[in-house]
Amino acid sequence: MAYENVEIHPAVDRGVHPGKADFAGGTLKCHCATNPVEVKVSHQTAHNHVCGCTKCWKPDGATFAQIAVVPREHVQVTKNADKLKIVNEQAPIQRHACKDCGVHMYGRIESTDHPFHGLDFVHTELSAEEGWAAPEFAAFVSSVIESGVSPTRMDGIRGRLRELKLEPYDCLSPPLMDAIATVVAKKSGVLAAA
Ligand SMILES: [Zn+2]
Ligand SMILES: [Zn+2]
Repeated sequence: MAYENVEIHPAVDRGVHPGKADFAGGTLKCHCATNPVEVKVSHQTAHNHVCGCTKCWKPDGATFAQIAVVPREHVQVTKNADKLKIVNEQAPIQRHACKDCGVHMYGRIESTDHPFHGLDFVHTELSAEEGWAAPEFAAFVSSVIESGVSPTRMDGIRGRLRELKLEPYDCLSPPLMDAIATVVAKKSGVLAAA
């Protein structure tokens, strides 16, 4: 492979691991050595992807984040909830991060008008369990430049993403962009509400 030395994220740099069909979730832990925050996710995730935006939490040194969604009723803080704070109360996605280590434990959308209301955003790499849904694509790829990646590296980054079969998009994937547009069209009335 031409681009195998291009680093994307530790969860995919040695190849993408397939998820397990019957997987039912696990426990996310922050990086604190003592009293870590624990979040139980009692469901398989969907739309897992690597993300180049500047808002998602990334492990040290990673170019991309890895992030998936899960219905919010399947996300429960089970330990050390008092260590969580919201990174930015004004952001549409309220990212609940550990005050001590900075890891984002879950992102929640409180606005019922948001197309993804009802889904929480989680980083499944924070769990020791194996079987989480594999990443399927790469979102907001051009945005890694905003984190300081040289534009000259973009050919290599997109080349590596394609080798990993993580199709690079500069927004979200077509199914997610279509889902957003469908919610907007139903709200405006140009499409019949189902
Ligand atoms: Zn922590
Ligand atoms: Zn992101």
